[in-house]
Amino acid sequence: MPSFNTPNEIARETFRLLATRRIAPSPENYQTVYHEVAGTSAADADAFAEAPLKAILQSMPRATPGQMRLARELEQSIKDENLESYRNTLTRFIEEQSAVESLPWGELISNLLREWDTNHAGTTTGKKREALEHLFSSTGSNAETLYNRLQSLVRSWSQGGVSEETDLVEGDIPALATEPDTAPEKSTSAKPASRASELLPQLRDLLAFALENAVAAQIAEDPELASQAKELAATARKANSMQAIDELLTELKRFAFRLELLADDRTELRQGLLHLLQLVIENISELVIDDKWLNGQIAVLRDIVSHPLSLRSIDDAERRIKEVVYKQGQLKRSLVEAQEALKTMLAGFVDHLANFSDSTSDYHDKIEVCAQKISAAKDINELADVVQDVMKETRIIQFNAQRSRDELQTTRKRVEETEQRISELQGELDKASTLVRHDQLTGALNRRGLEEAFEKETARANRRKTPLCVALLDIDNFKKLNDSLGHDAGDAALIHLATVTRETMRPQDTVARFGGEEFIILLPDTPIEDAKKAVVRLQRELTKKFFLHNNEKQLITFSAGVTQIRPDDTQPSVIKRADESMYAAKKSGKNRVVSAP
Ligand code: GH3
Ligand code: MG
Ligand code: MG
Repeated sequence: MPSFNTPNEIARETFRLLATRRIAPSPENYQTVYHEVAGTSAADADAFAEAPLKAILQSMPRATPGQMRLARELEQSIKDENLESYRNTLTRFIEEQSAVESLPWGELISNLLREWDTNHAGTTTGKKREALEHLFSSTGSNAETLYNRLQSLVRSWSQGGVSEETDLVEGDIPALATEPDTAPEKSTSAKPASRASELLPQLRDLLAFALENAVAAQIAEDPELASQAKELAATARKANSMQAIDELLTELKRFAFRLELLADDRTELRQGLLHLLQLVIENISELVIDDKWLNGQIAVLRDIVSHPLSLRSIDDAERRIKEVVYKQGQLKRSLVEAQEALKTMLAGFVDHLANFSDSTSDYHDKIEVCAQKISAAKDINELADVVQDVMKETRIIQFNAQRSRDELQTTRKRVEETEQRISELQGELDKASTLVRHDQLTGALNRRGLEEAFEKETARANRRKTPLCVALLDIDNFKKLNDSLGHDAGDAALIHLATVTRETMRPQDTVARFGGEEFIILLPDTPIEDAKKAVVRLQRELTKKFFLHNNEKQLITFSAGVTQIRPDDTQPSVIKRADESMYAAKKSGKNRVVSAP
């Protein structure tokens, strides 16, 4: 039989033989004839392909530990004649290779070198070496795992902390992802567990970064909350155990709730501002009479914008501007009316003046004629007629002059009245622009201002279900101070108390003068114990910030009653309760704070 070398030639010859021998071309018959033509046996085809697999193994590189390990494993598979294992080993190697290729090792290594050379608080080069050795000896052959753990270690150096990597490997976090109930096999559950332990530090860092840089910057206007964000970031970085993470979660939830409230506030704030701007813009056309007023309004707005925004300052500005705008409208109308009246009067006066001068020139003409008649007169009778004429003309001119003088006087009187009305309105306007709902002496809210603030705060507290407290303060022995130092000193003492109160209380608290030497403070979002503490703090501040009279220190003290608002309260019922507590404080020796039961 001639030899056929290529598979094509063997196949062609196989078909030819099947045809000439009239054998049906079934797969079995084809296989039998094929082996006959090729000179091989059917048993050979099923044998383990040792030779080609070995040839592949020979040509593979063995430059790295990974490649050497692969070669060893492949060799073993050939020895065992296990094609399945050979294939799996190769597949895994190729997968690992592609994963390794996508990891930015260059960056990580340059970071590692940089951090290795940098001095870090809390670690030394020796400790770094130890951590590295520990990492390499405890990490398996997976390149991705190695990459992640190395990255965490380098990051922990750069943050000057303890090696998170070591803590994580030995701590209890890896257990996080291993749910004993749901893990069917050790081999499958181990992978997500170690993956979680690698991702967790990254997540924590990301959370800390977001809290510290993004969140804290966004809420800078609320310094307390902003510093809470920073504290949380620090806590997150240190959370290396399950317990620490549980605590972090609780704190985060609380923080998120406060953030939500802040977001509500911001929405309200924006709407308040928008209203305010609309109010000003709508009324600018009304304010053209005197630019000073327009400037005044713009100054209020500027003042608001220059300070950290608060709902209270916007409320305040809105109240002020509304009143000014109202008075402005009134004044404008009155001024226009006054102008009209003056114009009419002036026009009338000019008419009279013209009449008067007409009639005087007429008089002169007539007298002239009379004078001619007199010089031409021939007898006394003729003269008597002329004298009659002179008398008549003089009487007319005298009457006209009298009438003009009367009208002039009336006009002057009306001008004076109008002027007075204008100056009254101007005075009201002055008051309106500076002292809308504020006490003139102390600048604190007056009763009217308090009423509005009370409505707003109670509505807000109900909406948010947060506690709102009211404190009533009454200066101790104020009459004595007035009597010994004088009324002006008493006034100055009231101003001092209002100033110290505003400086000591939080920006969101409202301070109002309730009457004589009594003040009311509204403390939103404050439970009764905290409200009492805040008022006691104010008492202490007053012992530090003395009131000076003629350079002598005068200690001002007050007694106070504090109460928390209840759902069925009205303003009078709350103030009554606060007043009763304040009275109890007076009775028990003054300079005390008593909270309502
Ligand atoms: P107690 O410790 O019991 O509160 O005694 P007190 O003297 O503070 O209280 P009392 O109600 O007897 O006196 C309050 C005084 O406050 C009487 C009044 O002359 C004075 N007063 C009220 N309003 C003003 C004000 O605007 N300026 C000044 N200088 N004094 C005022
Ligand atoms: Mg009093
Ligand atoms: Mg008093």
